[in-house]
Amino acid sequence: MLLNIKQFILLIIFLLLGVLYSIFSDYYLDQREQTASVILGTLQDDMSEISYVLSKNITEKQNIQSSRAFLDRAASNNDFIKAIIILDDEEVLLTTDPHYRKAITKSPLYNHHAKSAYEQLTQKVGLEGIVRFYEGEHLKKLSLLFLLDQDEIEYSLSYNKTKFFTYFGILPALSIFLIWIILKLFIGNPLEKLRQYAYYQSFIPKAFKVKELEAIRSSMVQTFTRLDAEQKELYKMARTDSLSGLANRNALNEHLKRLIANASRTNKEFAYLFLDLDNFKTVNDALGHHIGDELLQNVASTIAEVLRANDFVARVGGDEFVIVLEEYHSMSELTNIIERIQNRLSITWVVQTHPINITSSVGIAFYPKDGTDIISLMQHSDIAMYEAKKKGRAQYHFFTERLNAEVKKSIAMDKAMRRALEHEEYQLYYQPKIDMKTGEIVGAEALIRWQTRTDGIIPPNDFIPLAEENGFIVELGLWVMREAMYQQKAWQAKGIDISIAINVATQQLLDDNFEKKFKALLEETQVDPAKIEFEITEYLFLDQTNNNLNTLNMIHDNGISISLDDFGTGYSSLSYLKKFPIDSIKIDKTFVDDFNTTEGAIFLETIVKMGQTLDMDVIAEGVETREQSLYLKQVGCKLCQGYYCSKPLPVTDFEGFYKTHQADVCKIANWND
Ligand code: C2E
Ligand code: CA
Ligand code: CA
Repeated sequence: MLLNIKQFILLIIFLLLGVLYSIFSDYYLDQREQTASVILGTLQDDMSEISYVLSKNITEKQNIQSSRAFLDRAASNNDFIKAIIILDDEEVLLTTDPHYRKAITKSPLYNHHAKSAYEQLTQKVGLEGIVRFYEGEHLKKLSLLFLLDQDEIEYSLSYNKTKFFTYFGILPALSIFLIWIILKLFIGNPLEKLRQYAYYQSFIPKAFKVKELEAIRSSMVQTFTRLDAEQKELYKMARTDSLSGLANRNALNEHLKRLIANASRTNKEFAYLFLDLDNFKTVNDALGHHIGDELLQNVASTIAEVLRANDFVARVGGDEFVIVLEEYHSMSELTNIIERIQNRLSITWVVQTHPINITSSVGIAFYPKDGTDIISLMQHSDIAMYEAKKKGRAQYHFFTERLNAEVKKSIAMDKAMRRALEHEEYQLYYQPKIDMKTGEIVGAEALIRWQTRTDGIIPPNDFIPLAEENGFIVELGLWVMREAMYQQKAWQAKGIDISIAINVATQQLLDDNFEKKFKALLEETQVDPAKIEFEITEYLFLDQTNNNLNTLNMIHDNGISISLDDFGTGYSSLSYLKKFPIDSIKIDKTFVDDFNTTEGAIFLETIVKMGQTLDMDVIAEGVETREQSLYLKQVGCKLCQGYYCSKPLPVTDFEGFYKTHQADVCKIANWND
C-alpha cells in the first residue's frame, strides 16, 4: 500500500498519540494512586491515634460519652471524615453526626477485593478500626468507624484529573498540531513542490529549509536546466541547416503546416519560391567543396538580408533554397523582391581570392492557386524553376497548368522511352558520307529512330533532348554504340568497308562509368576502332575541368576518331580545337544553307581553310542541292552528307544504296560536275 505524505504524517501523529497516551495514562494512574494513598494514610493515622486515645481513657462502656468532644474535633479536623461512629456490635454507642444514629451494616464497609488505595477509598463507605479496653478484667472490643466523605475524596482526586487532562488533552493536541504544521511546512509542502517540479517543470521551487530536501531541489534544478538547454539545442539542430544557419527542410515543413492552416482559415495567399543556383556544380568541381561551401554561406546570408522579418527562407538541398513570402500587396512588389534577390546574388563573389560568378533560377508557386499542400507547392515551384532554367537561367518563372501538363507529358514520355528500349523499338538509320573528290561512300552516320507500335516513327529531336535531360541518354547511347559497332563489323564482313559515326551526347561522356563501359564495349564487339568515329558537340567544352579532356584523350588513344558536330553554332573557339583531340569538324547545316550569301560563303571558306591548317577533315552536313555541293567541292571541303546524296536509310536500304552507288562510282565521281 502506498501512503501519500499527508497519510504518512497522520500515521506518525497517531503513533505519537498512542505513545503519549500510554505515558500519560500511566502517569495519571500513578498520581491518582499516590494521592489516594496519602488520603488513606491520614485516615489510618487518625484511626490509630483515636483508637489509642480511646483505649486509654475508657474504663467502661458507659463513660464513652465523655470522649464525644475529642471525637468531634477529630472528625472536623479531617475533611475526608463525614462522621466517627463507635459501635458495639450493631448498637451505636456514639456518633459525631446525629444522622447516623441508626446501626450501619458492616458489610459495605469492607471490600476485600480492593487492592489499591484508590479502590479502598472509592469503593468503601468507611474505614473500621478497633478500640480495646478492660472493663474490670474483661477485655472489651468496640468498633471505631470512620464514615468517609465521598464528595470530598472525589474532589481531591478530580483535582488531579483536570491537571491530567490539561496535560493529556491540550498539550499533546497543541504539540501535535505544531508538529503537523512543521512537518507540512518543512517536509510535506517541499516534497509536493518537488513532485510537481519533477512532473511539470513549470516553475522552480524556492530554496528549502531542510538540508537534504534543498540538496535534492538544487540538483533537480541543475539537471532540469541542463536537460532544458540540451533539448533546446537539439530542437534547434533538428531545424537548422548546419552549413548556412538557415532553417532546414524540417523547419520549412513545420512553417508551411502552420502557414497553410492559417491561410486556409483566413483565405490568404502566399508565394512559395524555389531558388536554385545555376552553375554551382561547376564552382564545386572546379574550386573544391570548401569554396563551394563558403559561397553557399554567403548566398544564404545575402538572401536572408534581402528578406523582411516575416519572410521565411530555408536551405533544402545543396544549392537549393525555398523562400516563403506572405506579405506582398501586388505582383510587382513580389517580383521586385525576387529580382532584388537575383541581382544581389549575381555579383562577382570573391571567395578566398577566387572571383566567382553565379546566377540563380527561381520558380514560383502560389498557395492556394497552384497547390494547397506542401508536396504540390514543392513540385509546382520545381517545375517553374526548371522552366526558368530552360529559358536560359538567371530568371524567374511562375508555375502554370500548361507547364504542369508538359511535365506530366514528359514523365509519361520518360517511361515510354525506357520501355521502348526493353521492347526493342529503337532502330538505327544510316546516312552516307561522301568523299567529294572520288564520290565514294566512305562512311555513314548512325541516326536513331523510335519505331513505335502505335504512333509510327518518332524522330530523335522529339525524344533525345528529353533523354539528355533525364539522363536516359546514358543508357540509350550505350545501346546506340553497341548497335553501330556490331553493324560496322557486319558490313565489313559483307565487304561494306566504311567507318561509322556515332553521336555521343555530352552526358554520356560525363558519366563516371563511361570509360569502363566504353572499354568493355570495344572488348565485346571487337570492332576496329579506326572504323569508328564519335560525333560530339561543343557543349562538352562548357565544363572547364580536365575531366572531359581526359575522357576525349582516352577515346582517342583507343584509336577512335573524334568529330566536332554542329560546328559554328556553339562555343567554337580556336583554343579548344587545339587543346582537344579533334580529327574533323562538321559544318552545321545553317551555314551550308547560307552558302550563296557573301557572309555565308566567307564563313564556309574560312572554316575549310582553318580545318586544313589544323589538319582536320572538314565535312559539310545538310547538303541538299547540287549548287551547294558544287560550291563546297570548289572551296576544298573534303566530305559531304545530306539529302542531295541520300537521306538516312534503314540497314537493308543502305546496303542496296551502297551497292548501286559504289558500282557506279566512276559516273558518280563526276556526280556533281
Ligand atoms: P545531327 O547529329 O546534326 O544529325 C543530322 C541531322 O540532320 C539528322 O537528323 C539528319 O537526318 C538531318 N539531315 C541530314 N541531311 C539533311 C539534309 O540535307 N537536310 C535536312 N533538312 N536534314 C538533314 P535526325 O536524324 O532527325 O537527327 C537529329 C538529331 O538528333 C541529330 O542531329 C543528333 O543531334 C540527334 N541524334 C540522332 N541520333 C542520335 C543518337 O544516336 N545519339 C544522340 N546522342 N543523338 C542523336
Ligand atoms: Ca551528328
Ligand atoms: Ca549536326
